[in-house]
Amino acid sequence: MNEIDIEKAAALMRSASNMAVLTGAGVSKESGIPTFRDAQTGLWAKYDPQQLASPEGFKNNPELVWQWYDMRRQNLANVQPNAAHIAISALESEFSEFAVLTQNVDGLHQRAGSKHVVELHGNITTFYCFDRLHPASEIPTGLKQPPVCHCGSLIRPAVVWFGEALDRSVWRSASQTAIGCEVMLVVGTSALVQPAASLPFDAKQKGAKIIEINPEQTPLTRRADLFIQAPAAIAFPLLMQYFRQS
Ligand SMILES: [Zn+2]
Repeated sequence: MNEIDIEKAAALMRSASNMAVLTGAGVSKESGIPTFRDAQTGLWAKYDPQQLASPEGFKNNPELVWQWYDMRRQNLANVQPNAAHIAISALESEFSEFAVLTQNVDGLHQRAGSKHVVELHGNITTFYCFDRLHPASEIPTGLKQPPVCHCGSLIRPAVVWFGEALDRSVWRSASQTAIGCEVMLVVGTSALVQPAASLPFDAKQKGAKIIEINPEQTPLTRRADLFIQAPAAIAFPLLMQYFRQS
């Protein structure tokens, strides 16, 4: 991690009034939330991700899919937002326009206090049936199978599964944020999963400066204005220090 780049990143952020942050699994990892693949331990290892997270998988075995998400939802009770979530939340009031675009489904940005969060891939603590959203308060944890709504349809987690398109209004909001921001921080994402991966490129094309924070290089790295090679929870405290000084 190059401290001069962190200083430059802080100065870039200071010069902007419209800021966006795109986050991925790397931000949640340091809270102890395993990636989808890493969560597939023990009993779960034998399943193909398509069996656990696709419309076909849910149709074929609703109990299995339900229990997979229920397990991951229950794990959220044991984790806390980390330094990166907290720093991102603290930044919000420093800009006239600020949004977090996240690929994470764990709600940790909101738990850290972020208000304007666009959840590209949904949230595992929210559910829907054929015709409406069901908040976490309606759906207890520990159920062995998906509950049936009054409308007659099975209730499912409100996440985007393999083979599904992103919610149209969510995507519109993310797109508008990307093309309208002056600086985009891209944090803890492999920059591979589409369509989310296109957002920094769209921002760049409209003239935004791109700051990438990631332990490894990604397909975005060569196009980024600054690349800070570090885990998010390490880079953010220092970045905030420089940001407050500048
Ligand atoms: Zn219903």
